[in-house]
Amino acid sequence: METHYEILNVSEDATLEQIKSRFQQLILRHHPDRQGNIQQDNDQAQRILQAWEVLRNPQRRKTYDAELAARHRHRAAVINSEIDLDDMEYNEKTLTFSLVCRCSGIYAITENDLEQGIDVVCCDNCSLRIRVLYDVVDEDEEH
Ligand SMILES: [Zn+2]
Repeated sequence: METHYEILNVSEDATLEQIKSRFQQLILRHHPDRQGNIQQDNDQAQRILQAWEVLRNPQRRKTYDAELAARHRHRAAVINSEIDLDDMEYNEKTLTFSLVCRCSGIYAITENDLEQGIDVVCCDNCSLRIRVLYDVVDEDEEH
């Protein structure tokens, strides 16, 4: 789940001006009329609009920031360790990366999960979780 800041690709302490100019760039680029892939651009345009609606309003942004802070704390509390994707075992048949937990259960994450931005995996046997670290290739980066 991307945050509104991630969707607009701005830092969490960006000024309203910075957010606004970023929003205007993005909404132009993802405008449904401009590109071939209408459905995907539409979804993205919706997310961009939604993010802007929250971040442009100081009161809503403040509320959202508080939610984010709570989310960060929650995450930090439940992740037991971070594992490099390279250290996991890859199964070419199932396209799954896996790792044996200390309880001898299995952590498994598929390529599909990774493509969707999922990076936290639960053990299939106990309540431990790991975060999988991997490099994201950002195709949107044009600089
Ligand atoms: Zn376990």
